[in-house]
Amino acid sequence: MTTLQALLEKAKAARLNAYAPYSHFLVGACLETNTGKAFSACNVENASYGLCLCAESNAISAMIAAGEKYVKQIVVVVAGPGVSTPCGACRQRLHEFSSPDLPIHVFDLQGASKTYTLTELLPNAFGPDDLI
Ligand SMILES: [Zn+2]
Repeated sequence: MTTLQALLEKAKAARLNAYAPYSHFLVGACLETNTGKAFSACNVENASYGLCLCAESNAISAMIAAGEKYVKQIVVVVAGPGVSTPCGACRQRLHEFSSPDLPIHVFDLQGASKTYTLTELLPNAFGPDDLI
């Protein structure tokens, strides 16, 4: 099991590698799987703005590439002041690989933090069960 502080440090380290020359909004994320593995990532922007990739989505991709499928918790960190929650697309992607009570911990670099559940951020979500 990875501690929340360890996940935060990995998210902060990933954030420093963010490629965000257009928005200058650097984001780091680190998720923990149900097997205790941690995957961190940063946002990657593109001059064609629609191709920008979020840190949370990139962390999910790293998890999948490693053969993992279930997010136990995720940390997201931004410079602040003030925390930011994952965008709608990332909330939907997290829903695909977690449970409705997934803890989403958001931090800024000044020490502000808040924890939401996925259901709080994505109520009445559409998901795999809707396709059965
Ligand atoms: Zn996103």
